[in-house]
Amino acid sequence: MIAENIRKVRERIEQKCAETKRDPEEIKLIAVSKNFGIDEINKVYDEGIRDFGENRVQELDIKFSRIRHEITWHFIGNLQRNKVRFAVGCADYIHSVDSLMLATEINKRAGSMNKIQKVLLQIKTSNEETKSGLTDYSEIKDLVSYCNDFPNLELIGLMTIGPLTNDMQLVRKSFSQLRKLRNRLNGDNFTNIKELSMGMTSDFEIAIEEGATMLRIGSAIFGERDYSKDWRESL
Ligand SMILES: *Cc1c(COP(=O)(O)O)cnc(C)c1O
Repeated sequence: MIAENIRKVRERIEQKCAETKRDPEEIKLIAVSKNFGIDEINKVYDEGIRDFGENRVQELDIKFSRIRHEITWHFIGNLQRNKVRFAVGCADYIHSVDSLMLATEINKRAGSMNKIQKVLLQIKTSNEETKSGLTDYSEIKDLVSYCNDFPNLELIGLMTIGPLTNDMQLVRKSFSQLRKLRNRLNGDNFTNIKELSMGMTSDFEIAIEEGATMLRIGSAIFGERDYSKDWRESL
């Protein structure tokens, strides 16, 4: 089942890359394993996937310490300041930096662990109240300069969550906004931010069309998440 799901997802990515003349090598597939257990992660690993995403620090921490394989971990959820220490201890990438306070804390913790933490800034590209992320251009631009000056941070990209809607034009608008923002920031700040983390199960093909370099895909790989179950039960 999982093997078949992954085969289909890869096929759709390749198909979309062929259509848009993009190189599949420049698109990283991150399997979002939240709410799924170690056995399922191992099955996905066996299909050759090495990048996994989690949105709760505690869940990441447990999986990080229990799984023996060499995995690249991506933290993609809301990060509270008091949990930064644990996130930095586990995650190769943190996709959800949305304030100077958080960037400062990550830099500090990474420094004490002798680590250069790769981060992305989370941008809000939709009008949905529930979504978090930065919106104000001058604030984002300033945060980019701060990040570049922090010795233990490496700012590698921008992340967004597309709007939850059936209107694909709105989804496309949100993704193209992220790409344009990256290009504008690179021009204004003389930086070379490369990665665009966007696209989930319902919208990853549009994300590829709009330039995504990191796809965060959960249910198309693992199957539907069972939210009636606490994540601890699946471990
Ligand atoms: C859960 C989650 C995903 C994956 O969602 P699917 O719809 O299952 O592909 C991607 N990004 C974030 C931030 C998530 O929390």
